[in-house]
Amino acid sequence: MAQRVALSEAAAGSKRTSRVRVAVRLRPYMDKQDEKGEGPCVRGLGPQNLEIINWRNATETLQYQFDAFHGEQTSQQEVFVSSVKPILPHILNGQNASVFAYGPTGAGKTHTMLGSQEQPGIIPRAVKEVFNLVAAQEKEQDSWQYSVGMSYLEIYNEKVLDLLSSGSQDLPIREDKDRNILIPGLTHTPLSSFSDFDRHFIPASLNRTTASTKLNQRSSRSHAVLLVKVVKSQRRPPHRQQTGKLYLVDLAGSEDNRRTGNRGIRLKESGAINLSLFTLSKVVDALNAGAGGRIPYRDSKLTRLLQDSLGGSAHSVMITNIAPEYSYYFDTFTALNFAAKSKQIVNRPFVRETVLAPAIVLGKRARDEQETGGSGE
Ligand code: ADP
Ligand code: MG
Repeated sequence: MAQRVALSEAAAGSKRTSRVRVAVRLRPYMDKQDEKGEGPCVRGLGPQNLEIINWRNATETLQYQFDAFHGEQTSQQEVFVSSVKPILPHILNGQNASVFAYGPTGAGKTHTMLGSQEQPGIIPRAVKEVFNLVAAQEKEQDSWQYSVGMSYLEIYNEKVLDLLSSGSQDLPIREDKDRNILIPGLTHTPLSSFSDFDRHFIPASLNRTTASTKLNQRSSRSHAVLLVKVVKSQRRPPHRQQTGKLYLVDLAGSEDNRRTGNRGIRLKESGAINLSLFTLSKVVDALNAGAGGRIPYRDSKLTRLLQDSLGGSAHSVMITNIAPEYSYYFDTFTALNFAAKSKQIVNRPFVRETVLAPAIVLGKRARDEQETGGSGE
């Protein structure tokens, strides 16, 4: 019985390649990122669309469509509920999932994934929700029991480093006979509650952030990967077991380090970062094109690690974070072209006047215009 389940899941996994859902989140405009005082160059148009000025021709804008667009007013809770919460129940049924924050440094990846005490991000919300789902399941039935655990690692220069153990060496990535990806030697910490998680995760992530400011912003050059594992076990014979994995990933910055003029070690680092990010973009493209060809998971550490949790029968979401200031223009443009479902050039100027004001004033003006019947153009 157990064997038959395993076989049918493997067969389904090898045939079906599910799409990666792509959402874009635009962070609020920040004065200090805009020395020339040019105002934003991107704005939302609806729940799936945005536009960016066309730098080749200022009388046009480029309009893009995604699975979801989250504007600068979107709360942490809204991003979580629309993009992440719906996939979590699958983790309790032995399925895998992955959530990534992609985009240039400074565009809001860490805010989206980790957040702050006042505005917690996807990671704390998802872990809390997993414990809620487990509690609800255990209340509803008593034939299965659940155990939750975590691992936390960093991929830096194509090396896999354990963030829950000090002085970690590069760890190998292996595949077992059932095609599950695993890392022998990686710390796995059992968790009995959300506060348990906080106790282990917060110091590890703080460590990473403080170390990063000293080490040339290492955090913007490495991928931080949190793994939450849920093992579901039958209380009575035959004691079947299912494991569901959830990867929550704060990716390295997608900015082009060659263009920003990095030298020496950073140039070498950016080559490695580009390899994992570049491969990730090829993997996502291949999955979303649905051509059924070879998916190049093995070409980088990050995609190899995620092989059983990205595409196949897994549930995946990529949140592309972008910033509205002109100083981010080319990085935004590149990130959007990677993430977009569709793009069109529209013959309408990006009207400066309507976007120069800070968001709050803008909101007020839009309301005023509605009241007076103005079109805003
Ligand atoms: P990244 O991790 O992509 O480099 P951060 O998450 O560190 O970017 O964000 C850069 C700055 O912008 C931080 O000060 C962060 O608090 C702020 N920020 C990012 N996104 C938002 C948002 N949606 N709302 C408010 N502040 C944000
Ligand atoms: Mg960050």
